[in-house]
Amino acid sequence: MEEMHIYINGDFFPESQAKVSVFDHGFLYGDGIFEGIRAYDGRIFRLNEHIDRLYESAKTIKLNIPLSEEQMKEACAETLRRNKIKSGYLRLIVSRGFGKLGLDPRNCEKPTIVIIPAGYVITVAEAKPVKAIIASTRRNPSFCIPPTVKSCNYLNNILARIEALNANADEAIMLDVRGYVSEGAADNIFIIKKGKLITPPLHAGILEGVTRLVTIEIAENLGIQVIDKDITIHELYNSDEAFITGTGGEVQPLIEVDGRIIGTGQPGPITKRISEEFKKEALRPEAGYEVYK
Ligand code: PMP
Repeated sequence: MEEMHIYINGDFFPESQAKVSVFDHGFLYGDGIFEGIRAYDGRIFRLNEHIDRLYESAKTIKLNIPLSEEQMKEACAETLRRNKIKSGYLRLIVSRGFGKLGLDPRNCEKPTIVIIPAGYVITVAEAKPVKAIIASTRRNPSFCIPPTVKSCNYLNNILARIEALNANADEAIMLDVRGYVSEGAADNIFIIKKGKLITPPLHAGILEGVTRLVTIEIAENLGIQVIDKDITIHELYNSDEAFITGTGGEVQPLIEVDGRIIGTGQPGPITKRISEEFKKEALRPEAGYEVYK
């Protein structure tokens, strides 16, 4: 198979030569931010939302990205063009950059920008039903590492995912420090009760997922009431339907949590409807950034 070409600071390198220094503070300290982005049929889905989130994350960690938002979008598009990808995945990483040892970010002269393309979806299978556990590892509170920053520091989530793997589950649902439902290790969560869609608010320590935003738009367009409020474990166990959302997996039914069957144990009607609408939205021309103009 032909090697993918990886974007590093404006140049492209074949996979086998795409390397970043061991002195990069992204490697040394997890000091950086990233985005996981999908392209469908020659358009990058909701690129504006992803780039906005990236630049907001950068501002919070006081990282000056040396490209304008427009230039960053073009770098993403160029990465797909170089690799002749119409539908696939992009992993965009901006780290603090190369610098001597020590936490001081001033040790790094300029950020490292990397864009890794994948012609196939590398994460969980789309729309596959999921069995989850509730992890004992709690989500980082915003007064520690703000979860709204999509940082390269994912140990919190990885610890939760390890708990899921140990329990033979597909995903771990994390609680916030207060004990309310927050999100999955790499996805947002929704429950449905009596026809209403309920999702944890930002103060429950979630990443503001792009798929979450799109899901809320879809539900509202379908006339489904959307409520963002704190969700207890009891409410999750006793929901009529539940699903998780993320760029890789899109809308995935959650059919079991901690050995409790959710609803009928099958993907529910509202989940299926939203999942179908999501697939349509992903292909709507105006929802994407045109790569092959
Ligand atoms: N929460 C976390 C912790 C994530 O890592 C992700 C992305 N994989 C999400 C939620 C979902 O965000 P998005 O819909 O933007 O992919």
